[in-house]
Amino acid sequence: MPGVNLNDLSGEPPDVAARSLRQIWGLGERPIKNMVHLLEAKGTRVFALAENTRTVDAFSLWRREQPYIFLNQLKTPERSRLDAAHELAHLALHKHGGPRGRKAEEEANAFASSFLMPSADVIAIAPRVYSLNQIVELKRRWGVSAVALIYRLHKLNVISDWQCRMFNIQATERGFREREQNGIDREHSAIWQMVMTALWKERITREHIAKELHIPAFELDYLLFGLASDQCKSVSENGDGAARLRLVPDGWPH
Ligand SMILES: [Zn+2]
Repeated sequence: MPGVNLNDLSGEPPDVAARSLRQIWGLGERPIKNMVHLLEAKGTRVFALAENTRTVDAFSLWRREQPYIFLNQLKTPERSRLDAAHELAHLALHKHGGPRGRKAEEEANAFASSFLMPSADVIAIAPRVYSLNQIVELKRRWGVSAVALIYRLHKLNVISDWQCRMFNIQATERGFREREQNGIDREHSAIWQMVMTALWKERITREHIAKELHIPAFELDYLLFGLASDQCKSVSENGDGAARLRLVPDGWPH
């Protein structure tokens, strides 16, 4: 498993922290192809939320110097990427507490926006924007929602207050807050696939792992993005009211 490579950036302004982390990780100004793979390569363990619920977007925690992120698979792929970047902000900026509540959330949102859409790249690619259709075309480059790109373009003064308002109204009218047009594929873990394959070669099955963890096998399937079993699809489709996330976070849950 990759070792943890995540600096403590507590106290830094969110946009500065986002730029610093990009620099430390050698990302420059390039768009991030896959947030889950990036996080895993830098030592964060990424899981899918076992208890699929629309009320929890995602959460993160440090436990024994190990960062964890849980992502809700009911969100759109674009939203899930933004959630991953938002949780990364909490791990890097709020490891030792720091601001709580609204201020922490605003910081995490600002970090996520800067991290996924670096200013120099956005301004180079989209120096002028005239229509929502243009935004729908452009957003795939950064793997974000139309609404997230509108917010970023406004923040960078590429679009005016008036344009921002108009594009947001149009985005709502066209149902972009529920589903994306010109959307991207959902991101999955790369690590858990490798781990499960390696364990399987040692004849360690998902049932064995689930037993060791004292969780039902279908819950393990959920956590590992449905990679542990071929049957996981039917489990998730049938649903199961008994499924409950049993991990008790001791770090930064929200
Ligand atoms: Zn948050």
